[in-house]
Amino acid sequence: MSAQLTFAAPRRAKPPRHLADLSPDERREAVAALDEKPFRADQLSRHYFGRLVDDPADMTDLPAAVRDRLVAELMPPLLTSVRDQVCDEGMTRKTLWKAFDGTLIESVLMRYPDRVTMCVSSQAGCGMNCPFCATGQAGLTRNLSTAEIVEQVVAGARALARGQIPGGEGRVSNIVFMGMGEPLASFNNVLRAIHRFSDPSPAGLGISQRNITVSTVGLVPAIGRLADLDLKVRLAVSLHAPDDELRDELVPINTRWKVAEVLDAAWAYADRTRRRVSIEYALIRDINDQGWRADLLGRLIKGHPVHVNLIPLNPTPGSKWTASRPSVQTEFVRHLEAHGVPVTVRDTRGQEIDGACGQLAAMPQEPPLRTRQG
Ligand code: SAH
Repeated sequence: MSAQLTFAAPRRAKPPRHLADLSPDERREAVAALDEKPFRADQLSRHYFGRLVDDPADMTDLPAAVRDRLVAELMPPLLTSVRDQVCDEGMTRKTLWKAFDGTLIESVLMRYPDRVTMCVSSQAGCGMNCPFCATGQAGLTRNLSTAEIVEQVVAGARALARGQIPGGEGRVSNIVFMGMGEPLASFNNVLRAIHRFSDPSPAGLGISQRNITVSTVGLVPAIGRLADLDLKVRLAVSLHAPDDELRDELVPINTRWKVAEVLDAAWAYADRTRRRVSIEYALIRDINDQGWRADLLGRLIKGHPVHVNLIPLNPTPGSKWTASRPSVQTEFVRHLEAHGVPVTVRDTRGQEIDGACGQLAAMPQEPPLRTRQG
C-alpha cells in the first residue's frame, strides 16, 4: 500500500554523494570517515550553504590538500547548466540542467518586486501521467537525489548573490516544488531537501518553511506522512476537477485516491500544521471551467482553511486543450467567491520560454517554433 513502492523509479546508478545529501551530523561522520577533523564538515557547510562558494580555490581556511580531497569526496559536480532561457527582462530564468548520467531536468527562477521564487524539480520526468502536463508525457526517468534538488536552488541563490539577475543582488525567498516530478513520490529525498533549504545557515540555506510549497497530485498516504512531521511547509493540491468522473481523466491517480479522500487529507494537513492549503486548478477551455463545476468545488471546500489558485492552462506540445476564455474564467472566479472561497488567478510567468506550470519537458533542442500571442 505504500506510495513509495508503487511509484518507485527504475533502478539505476545513483548520483554521487554530496554534502547536501547529508544532515550536519552525517557530514561530520563522512568527514571523519575520510580521516579528517569533524569541524572540517562545518567549514564545508559554511562555504556551500553560507557563502555559496563553488570554487575550491575560495576555501582558503582549508589547507589545499585537505580541500581538494574533501571537495572531490563531498562536493562533486552534480548538475551542469546546458542552457538558460530568460524572459520578463531577465526576471524569469529557466535553466536546463544535465545530471551525472545525462538526465535532463529544469528549474525556473522568478523575480518579483518583493520576492524571488524558485520552482524546482524533484524528479526527472514524472509518473503521474496527467494529460495536460508536458512533464507527464514522457514518463518517469528517475528520482532526483536530495543534493540534485538542493543544487537547483543553490545555483539560483548564487546567481542572485552575484548580481547576475537584473534587479541587483538578492536572495531566494520562496521555493515551490512545482517543477518536474511528483514530490511526494520521492518523499525522503524531498523531505531532506526541505531540511537543507530551511535549516539555519550555514547548516542549510535558512529559508523559512512557511515559504516552501510542496505541490502534489494527491498521494493521500504521503500527505498524511508529511502532516505527521509537524513541518510548516505549505501544501498545494492539484485538484483540477471537483468530480471524480472528470478528475479520473485529468489526474489519473484519482482512480486510486478520490476527490473526497484527497480533500480529507488536505484538511487534516491544514489542521495539523495550522496552515491554509492551496487548491490548484488549471482552467481548461470547455473541460473543467463550467459554472456548475465552480459551484461544486465551492460547496466542497467552503468553510475550510483553503485558497484556490486558478492557473490558465499553459499550452503543451501535442495537446488539443487550451486555456479558458477570459469571460469564462471571470465567471468561474465569481462563482467561487460567491461561496466565500478566496481565489487568485496565477500569472503565467515564463510561458514564452516554456517555463510556466506544466511546460517543463527538458528538451535539449529548442521546441519547434509555434505562434504565440504577446
Ligand atoms: N506533480 C506536482 C507538481 C508539479 S506541477 C503536482 O501535480 O502538483 C505544478 C502545477 O502545475 C500542478 O498544479 C499541475 O497540475 C499544474 N500544471 C501542469 N500542467 C499544466 C499546464 N499545462 N497548465 C497549467 N498548469 C499546469
